[in-house]
Amino acid sequence: MTGIDDLPIRDELRGKSPYGAPQLDVPVRLNTNENPYPLPEPLVARIAERVAEAARNLNRYPDRDAVELRTELAKYLSRTTGYEVTRQQVWAANGSNEVLQQLLQTFGGPGRTALGFEPSYSMHALISRGTGTGWIPGPRHEDFTIDTDAAVAAIAEHKPDVVFICSPNNPTGTAVTEETVLRLYEAAQAAKPSVVVVDEAYGEFSHRPSLLPLIEGRPHLVVSRTMSKAFGAAGLRLGYLAAHPAVVDAVQLVRLPYHLSSVTQATALAALEFTDTLLGYVEQLKAERDRIVTELRAMGCEVTESDANFVQFGRFPDSHTAWQAILDQGVLVRDNGVPGWLRVTAGTPAENDAFLEAVRTIRKESN
Ligand code: PMP
Repeated sequence: MTGIDDLPIRDELRGKSPYGAPQLDVPVRLNTNENPYPLPEPLVARIAERVAEAARNLNRYPDRDAVELRTELAKYLSRTTGYEVTRQQVWAANGSNEVLQQLLQTFGGPGRTALGFEPSYSMHALISRGTGTGWIPGPRHEDFTIDTDAAVAAIAEHKPDVVFICSPNNPTGTAVTEETVLRLYEAAQAAKPSVVVVDEAYGEFSHRPSLLPLIEGRPHLVVSRTMSKAFGAAGLRLGYLAAHPAVVDAVQLVRLPYHLSSVTQATALAALEFTDTLLGYVEQLKAERDRIVTELRAMGCEVTESDANFVQFGRFPDSHTAWQAILDQGVLVRDNGVPGWLRVTAGTPAENDAFLEAVRTIRKESN
């Protein structure tokens, strides 16, 4: 039987596992930071209409530059951040993972390095590896905020080509202040200069304003976003970035021609027509997120301050045992490998009640 290791794969892929959380069939799944609300029916109908229109032209390649979609994304960003963004500053791809991959293909690659502050979104390291970019783990404080002085020192020492700042950070929920981003940007420019990528996949859930306006006058700063979380459209696969127009021109050197299908573009445009309704769900999820934090603390759990649609909680002597005990109560949460901590995604009020009850039960059992 031929296995992976019998194939002539690249050395750095040997013995590695693909990224992915367990997809288990349990009543309450709060493990992948999805939005629990299905798209509203009028939006589903609008998607069907727009996709039918697109289907009539499927014999043709899609708009390679996704002009209409980028125009609407720019309007969305301008409206929600108060900072005027043009279509020339916006680029879109199949999920923000693809956006990040294109950025690393453009600014990283063999002989280059990327640095991120761990624990953080593990795909930053994995996409780096996949693009032949060396990965450098950077430090955080005990409370999971970025240790700015240590971060500046790490940037000065390693002179990475790409710096990742995830805000709000996955899996901790931690938001990053403007001051920290500015200091890290300055350090990165002094060291190299390198490209600083602010991953705002959970930006809409934050108590703080978006870091997007910081791109003004900073051509090496990129903010990446997604429709997977706030727009409740993880299945759509639509991510985007905002940056200086030169960055948008640069990523086109590595994007595959016609990478964004007409069906994807049509669906995303339909979803953007329903922005207000979808952002209404975001408000409900933020309130539920805050309720989870309050109730877990009332039970005596430690909880990391959260600006995302998920909450990191603990601490457990052994997180895997706690994960299994919660699963035994029918609730799937995420063990991100941060010792002592687990992560729960804010679901519907009923799902969150089930989760809170499960934690209450396992705490009683372990006392
Ligand atoms: N960035 C962060 C911080 C994430 O948590 C995720 C998804 N879990 C992504 C990017 C990628 O999301 P998508 O490719 O669905 O846009």
